[in-house]
Formats: sequence, C-alpha cells, structure tokens
Amino acid sequence: MAHDTSYLFSTLYSQVIAPESKCRGCGACVLVCPRDRLVFKGGRPEQVSGDKAVCPENENGRCGLCAMACPQLNPHAQPEHSGDEPIIVAARTTDPELADTCQDGGVVSSIARRGLESGRWSSFVGYTRDETWRPAPLVVTESGDVLKTAGSKYTHTSIDSGLRTLHAQGLASKPFATVGLPCHITALRRLMEMGSKYVKGMEFCIGLFCSKAFSYQRLVQDKLINEMQVPIRDVRKMAIRKGAFTVTTLSGTDHRIPVKKLGDYGYEGCASCGDFSAELADISVGGLGTDGWTIVLIRTAAGKEVMQDAQAAGIIETADREQFENALALLDKLTALKRKRAEKHNA
Ligand SMILES: Cc1cc2nc3c(=O)[nH]c(=O)nc-3n(C[C@H](O)[C@H](O)[C@H](O)COP(=O)(O)OP(=O)(O)OC[C@H]3O[C@@H](n4cnc5c(N)ncnc54)[C@H](O)[C@@H]3O)c2cc1C
Ligand code: SF4
Ligand code: SF4
Ligand code: SF4
Repeated sequence: MAHDTSYLFSTLYSQVIAPESKCRGCGACVLVCPRDRLVFKGGRPEQVSGDKAVCPENENGRCGLCAMACPQLNPHAQPEHSGDEPIIVAARTTDPELADTCQDGGVVSSIARRGLESGRWSSFVGYTRDETWRPAPLVVTESGDVLKTAGSKYTHTSIDSGLRTLHAQGLASKPFATVGLPCHITALRRLMEMGSKYVKGMEFCIGLFCSKAFSYQRLVQDKLINEMQVPIRDVRKMAIRKGAFTVTTLSGTDHRIPVKKLGDYGYEGCASCGDFSAELADISVGGLGTDGWTIVLIRTAAGKEVMQDAQAAGIIETADREQFENALALLDKLTALKRKRAEKHNA
C-alpha cells in the first residue's frame, strides 16, 4: 500500500486518542512514527512536546503515518480463512517443564519452541515480565528462551517496543512469529496491509482470548502491592480461577480478588473493544476454565499447518472436543457478551 499523505495526526488525535476509551493502546502509531514524536503516557500515545492535538511534522500533507497505521481509523478486512468457521481443538504441551510454567495448556510456548527448533521461524516475539510483574516484550531466537515468555501477564502492553527491537536486530524481514491480545493482532494486520518494514517477515500470529486487560498502576501497584501488601517479587502466577483473579506466590499462598470487583482496575481502552477471540489471528487460544488445556481456534491455512506440525513432532497432544463442551459454550457466551458490551459502549 502506498503512503497516503491525506492522513493527519490531528484526525487521529480528535477521533481516537482524545475520546475516552477509543484508543486501545496497541502502539502501532508509536511504532511507525519516523520522528519518534509519540510516547505512551497514562496508557495512551502523546506528542513528546508542543500542542497535544497537532504534529509539526504533519504540516502541508507530510507524513501522517501514525493515522495511517491506526486500526481504529482503518478497520481491517478478514484474512483468508481455512473455512467459514474455525476448526476448534483442545491441546496441551507434552513438555513437563513448559507444563509447569505456562498459563493453561502451554500451546503458545510449544509451537513457538517448535517453530524456532525446526527453523520455520528465525524469531518469536513474546512478552516476559520484570520482577514486579510489569510486562515487557522479548525477542526470542533460541528455543530454550521461549520459557521466559510463558504465562499470562494481565496488564496491558503494546506492540511497538518489541517490533522495534526485532527490526533493530535485523530480524523483522526474516520469518518470525508473534503472540498478542486481539488489539495487538488487529494492529499487526493493519501494519501488514500498509507493507510496514516492521512486519515484513511476519508469518504467524497467535491471538489470546481476552475479556479485558488491566492497568498496571491500578491493579498491580495500587491494589496488589500497596493495599493488599502482596509480596510481588514472590508471585509465581496470576490467573482467573473460579470467579476470582488469583495471585499465587512461590510458597503457594493465594491472594484473591473476586472477578465482580475487578471493574475498577481495567485498562480504559477495553470498554470499546468487541473482539474476544482475536478474530484476525492465525490461531486464537484461551483456557476458558479448562484445567491444563488450551482451547485453540484454527483460523487460517498457516494455523492448520503449524498445529499439525506441532502434533506430528509430538510437542503437543490434542483431546476430543466433546470433553470440552462447557468451555465451548463459555466461548460463545464470552464472545457475545464482549460484542454486546462494546456495542453498548460505542453507541
Ligand atoms: C490480558 C489477558 C487476558 C486474557 N483473558 C482471557 C479470557 O478472558 N479467557 C481465556 O480463556 N483466556 C484469556 N487469556 C488467555 C490465557 O490467559 C492464556 O494466555 C492462553 O490460554 C494461552 O495459554 P498457554 O498455556 O497456551 O500459553 P503459554 O504457553 O503460557 O504462553 C502465553 C503467551 O502469552 C503471551 N502473553 C502473556 N501476557 C501477555 C500480554 N499481556 N500481552 C500479550 N501477550 C502476552 C506470552 O508472551 C506467551 O507467549 C488472557 C490472556 C491475557 C494476557
Ligand atoms: S505525523 Fe508522522 S511525525 Fe507526526 S506523529 Fe504522526 S507519524 Fe509521527
Ligand atoms: S488505537 Fe493504537 S494506533 Fe490507534 S491511537 Fe491508539 S495506540 Fe495508536
Ligand atoms: S479488551 Fe483485550 S483486546 Fe480489547 S483492547 Fe482490551 S486488552 Fe486489547
């Protein structure tokens, strides 16, 4: 796609950044800015200096790449699918080390590992965390390092810094795979449509199911650390289990916040988002309350090939979907609920 100079930062600002909860914080605009004029502040992009609503580099029809990249201004068409409906399987890793570290069935980490080991991909862009559970992107080139990305970090993050690092390392034009929340996947597809150099080699994207993500400041800093006095450096896992957001420490102590009380800690942009199952991903994955399994929606030909290869290599095993009817009913329910919530909010 050619660079369309009719795009304006001022339009991006007035239609997406300024209105409450229109911006999903994906980071596509920050990533493509050739002048480093955009930074995240309070979960939204902002001009580094000067007038918030205009960009000086955008005068006389120059640039506008940020507005061109925003998936909120440019909704994406569906990619080619392997059929009208996704193929649904339940799968889990056969690797005990991964099973111990992953969030659900370890499918994401297993196929990332397999893709690197087999040489299908040169790198995998995932998300690790620091010792206070702040998420951070990680470019992985050695299959052994995939373990560093396993597990869910429930606070919102963006795609820009991971892809910048990938590009700086000369890996963005080589075959790579990545993982992300539905808002990330939508942004990645928009970047592909633009022919962005940051996704030139992107061959595969794994989307995570997502009801909402949380604000790091409000959930982790204010609630868990300050109010509940959770020893954050000792936290082993965070998960949504049996109606509660559950934080488990290395000693096995659980700290719980009922799901009904989580509303106060949500990331602002999530209110307008209606995509639960990452509809533009090659495969979409979630736990849906299963114990140690990942429910996988295979959406594209590439998704089918990668899943078949992982199974043939013995790195994942699958189970009969009949055993997971409750989870599949939950998938339908959460998909419909999220769409309805967004429609109501956006009306
Ligand atoms: C914010 C959030 C909300 C979610 N909501 C739901 C839900 O409502 N229902 C449901 O069934 N599942 C939800 N999931 C997905 C679920 O938690 C698991 O990620 C999924 O089942 C895959 O499990 P796994 O064991 O196969 O993945 P693993 O092998 O453990 O790999 C997890 C992958 O997720 C990536 N990741 C972790 N945190 C983030 C993040 N913040 N942003 C982008 N990528 C990240 C890691 O890089 C890693 O590659 C959510 C995940 C997140 C991060
Ligand atoms: S118009 Fe160009 S220089 Fe200005 S913020 Fe957007 S991408 Fe950056
Ligand atoms: S939705 Fe993404 S691309 Fe659009 S303004 Fe927000 S962070 Fe930027
Ligand atoms: S609900 Fe999930 S996918 Fe939607 S904006 Fe929030 S984090 Fe992104």
